[in-house]
Amino acid sequence: MVTLYWEEEIETLPRQGLESIQLKRLQRLVARMYHKVLPYREKMDALGVKPEDITSLADLQRLPFTTKDDLRDNYPFGLFASPMDSVVRVHASSGTTGKPTVVGYTEKDIDLWATVMARALVCAGATSGDMIHNAYGYGLFTGGLGVHYGVEKLGATVIPASGGNSKRQITLMQDFGSSILLCTPSYALNLADAMRDMGVNPERLSLKVGVFGAEPWSKNMREEVEKKLHIQAVDIYGLSEVMGPGVGMECLASSGGMHVFEDHFLPEIIDPDTGEVLPPGEEGELVFTTLTKEAFPLIRYRTKDISRLYYDTCTCGRTLVRMEKVTGRTDDMLIIRGVNVFPSQIEHVLMGIDGVEPHYQIVVERQGNLDTMQVLVEVSGAVFSDEIRRLETLTRRIQKDIKDILGVTAKVKLVEPKTIQRSEGKALRVIDKRKI
Ligand SMILES: [Zn+2]
Repeated sequence: MVTLYWEEEIETLPRQGLESIQLKRLQRLVARMYHKVLPYREKMDALGVKPEDITSLADLQRLPFTTKDDLRDNYPFGLFASPMDSVVRVHASSGTTGKPTVVGYTEKDIDLWATVMARALVCAGATSGDMIHNAYGYGLFTGGLGVHYGVEKLGATVIPASGGNSKRQITLMQDFGSSILLCTPSYALNLADAMRDMGVNPERLSLKVGVFGAEPWSKNMREEVEKKLHIQAVDIYGLSEVMGPGVGMECLASSGGMHVFEDHFLPEIIDPDTGEVLPPGEEGELVFTTLTKEAFPLIRYRTKDISRLYYDTCTCGRTLVRMEKVTGRTDDMLIIRGVNVFPSQIEHVLMGIDGVEPHYQIVVERQGNLDTMQVLVEVSGAVFSDEIRRLETLTRRIQKDIKDILGVTAKVKLVEPKTIQRSEGKALRVIDKRKI
C-alpha cells in the first residue's frame, strides 16, 4: 500500500487547528528563550516585549529578528537553550568570516529532525520498501546525517554513500537496486554523465525519484536531470540554522512549491529593507521561528533566501503552507557545490597573507555540471616582479588556505596591481557566470 502521509492528522489539519498549535508552541518557546538565553532576553527587553505579550500569532511581529551576526557574536554555544550535557550532537556551516555557524541538537531534536525528514521522504513517495541512496556529504554538513536518520525513521533502507567516487556510487545503485536518490542537483547531473561513460543505461536502474537540494537549481535543470536519469525530481529545502534538510519539501502531486512543516518551523516573508511582514503571495525574505527545537531554538531567523508563501490547499491534501523554490539571496552568499561561500571569507583569507592587496574578484562558472571558482588576487608591484617560483608558492599558499578554511577548491590567479577594476560604490567582488 502506498503511504500518503507520515503524520496524516497534522499534515492535513485545517488552518485554524494548525494555528492554535502554533500559538501554544510559540508562547512556550518565547517564555523558554526569555529565561534561558540571555542575548534574546536582552533583545526583547530592548524592545519592551515580555513573553506574556504574545497572545496571538500576529504578536510574532513584535519579537526581534535573529541574524547570522547574532550567531557569530555568540560563537560557539552562546545561543544554546539547553545545557551542554543534554546536547548530543553539533553541526556547523560556514559563517561570513573565518568562524563557522554552530548548531546543537538534543536527543529530542534529533528525533524531531528524523520525523520531519521522514515526512519529506513520504512527500517524495518513499515507503519502508525503498532502497534510499544518500549521496549528501556526511560530516559537519547537515545534509548526510539529516537524511540518514529520516530514512531509518521511515523504516526504509539507507545507503550512506556520502559524496564523491561516482563510479562506486553507480555500481552500488546497480547492485543494491537504489530506488530514490538524494544529492545536490549538480551532482545528480554528474552521476548521469558518469553513467554514460560507464555504459550504464539509467532506464535499467531501479531509480524512480530524486530528491535534490542544498543549492539553487532552475526548472531547466530539473528537466535535464529528469530526462538524463529517467526519474521524477523533487525539491527539498533546509538550512542548518533552522534544522538541516527537512524544513520544506515538494510533494509529487504539487505543481510547484515545497510544503513547509510549519507546526515546527513557522515561516514569514518580510521586506528585507524594512523588516515589515508581507502579505501571502508576495516575494520577500524568508524568516523562520523554530517552534519545538530544544537545544538551538531560533526566533525570527532571517535566512536571506528570497521566496513566497502560498496558503491554498495542495492537490496532495496537505494543508501545510507551500514556499516557492528559492529564487535568490538578499546577500552576496554563493553556493558552490553545496558549500556556502561568502566573499568576506575569501577576503579574510587574503588579509592574512603578506604582499597581497585587498583587491580581489571571484569568478564562478559552471563547467559541464560542476561549479568552478577562480579568485583573481592583486599582489603588490614588488611581489609581482619577483621570481616565478615565488609567485607559484604564493598562489599555492592562497589556494591551500581557501581550501582549508572554506572547504572548497578555488583556482587562484595573481594579477598585477590595479588590474581589478575599482568601483565607485560597492566593489564588484563576484562575477557569477552560471546560468541557473
Ligand atoms: Zn502537496
